[in-house]
Amino acid sequence: MLIANALLLVAGGAAQVYAATSTLAPQFSPVFPSSMPKATGVVTSYNPGPYDTTTKLSTARLSGYPEAWASPPTSSAEVKKVYNMIDWTKVPNAPVRKQDSNGNWVNDSDENDKYCWWSSTNCVNPRASYLPPDIYTCPNNGDWGLNYDDGPFNRYDDDEDEAALENKYAEPALYNFLAKTNNQKASLFYIGSNVVNYPAAAKRGLNDGHHLCVHTWSHPAMTTQTNAQIVAELYWTLKAIKEATGVTSRCWRPPQGDVDDRVRAIAHQMGLRTILWDLDTNDWDMPAPGGGSLSPAKVDKDFKTWINNFKSGKDKKGHIVLEHELNSATVNMSMFWMPKLQETFNVIPALACNGIQNPYWEEGWVYPTANVAQPTNTATPTGTKTTTSATSVPTPGTCTSGSYGLGKGDGYNGACSASAMVLSIP
Ligand SMILES: [Zn+2]
Repeated sequence: MLIANALLLVAGGAAQVYAATSTLAPQFSPVFPSSMPKATGVVTSYNPGPYDTTTKLSTARLSGYPEAWASPPTSSAEVKKVYNMIDWTKVPNAPVRKQDSNGNWVNDSDENDKYCWWSSTNCVNPRASYLPPDIYTCPNNGDWGLNYDDGPFNRYDDDEDEAALENKYAEPALYNFLAKTNNQKASLFYIGSNVVNYPAAAKRGLNDGHHLCVHTWSHPAMTTQTNAQIVAELYWTLKAIKEATGVTSRCWRPPQGDVDDRVRAIAHQMGLRTILWDLDTNDWDMPAPGGGSLSPAKVDKDFKTWINNFKSGKDKKGHIVLEHELNSATVNMSMFWMPKLQETFNVIPALACNGIQNPYWEEGWVYPTANVAQPTNTATPTGTKTTTSATSVPTPGTCTSGSYGLGKGDGYNGACSASAMVLSIP
C-alpha cells in the first residue's frame, strides 16, 4: 500500500506557507519570535553517528513558557498570531467533546462518523477531502516501526525515592542504549512540557539521529479542547522543540490517539501530519511512576505473540508499534525486547518505514529510510552545559533468578532473564 505523503511534497523548504500541489489545505510553518534564543549544541543536518553516549546532561530549563503540564493560556500574542494564520473555513465544525470524571466519553460517537473520530471508530481516513490520511502502519511486511511517546524522559528532582528508582532510566539512558544497539533510530513524540524541563535530552534525541515530533504541551485528549486550546497545545510544543533543537517538526501524535477532522485540520495547517499506530504494547499501563496496573507479563506476552506470528508467516504486515519513554518500566521493557526484535524484524523509525525523509521545515535535513547500522562520521557537537546531573546507566549483568521481562526484573538484569528469552520464541 502506498501512502500519499504530504511531508514528501516539500523538501524541507523554508517557505512560510506551503500551497499544496494537490487538493490538500495549505500549511504554514509557525512563526516564532525573533527574540527566541538560537539552539546550541545541536547538529544542523541528519547525524549518522557515531554518537555521544556520555551520561551527563545539562539540567538547565527553557524559560518564558506557560506552566508545565497545565493547559496553556490561549491569550498570548504568539498563540493569537498562529490562530489568525489558520483558514478556519477549512476546519470542520465538530463538537468540543466531553469526558466524565472517569475519562469516559459523554457521547462516544457521531452520526455516520462524519468527523472521522479515531477514539470512536479508529477512523484514519479523514472525511474532509483537503486533509491527508493519517499514517498508522508500516506498509512493508516485516517492518517494525519504532517510536516512543511522552519524552524526553525527565529526571525526578522533587521526590527522593522516585529519583533513586527512576533517574537511572531518564534520558539519555534509552538513547544511549539505542545508539549502542545496532545504532537503532526511532521516531520520538515529545511533550512540550518535558522539552522545556529537559531541553538537553531533546538535543541528544536530535543529535542521535532520531526524528522529533510533537505530542502536545500538556497531554490532553485533543478533541476535548477548543480550537484556540488546540493551537496553544501545538504551538508551545513546536516552539519548545525549536528553541531546544533548532528544528520545526512536521509530524505529531495526539495523546491516546484522540483525533477527529477538526483537530486534524488545525494540526495539518500548522504543518503537522497525524501519526498513529496499529499495534499497542500498552506499556504505559505497567506499574511505575505515571503508569498503571497492567502486569508486565502481559506486555511480554504481546511481544512474544507478535514475534511468533511474524516468524510463522501468520502476520504478513508491517506495523507501527506504540511504545513509551515514560518511566523505568517502559524503558526497561523496550531494552529487554530490542535485541530480539532486531533479530526478527526490520526495526526502523515509524516515519522512515513510510518513506518520510524531511520531517522538519528547515532546510538541510534528509533522514535515511533505512536503519543504518554502522556510523560513518563523527559530527557530534558538545552541548552547552551549565549545571549537570549524572545518571548511572543500568548495566547489563547477571540474570536475577526467576525474573521475567521486567517488573520482576531489574533494568538490564531483567533483560538477561533466560526464562523470558527462550520461553516460546523458536
Ligand atoms: Zn502520550
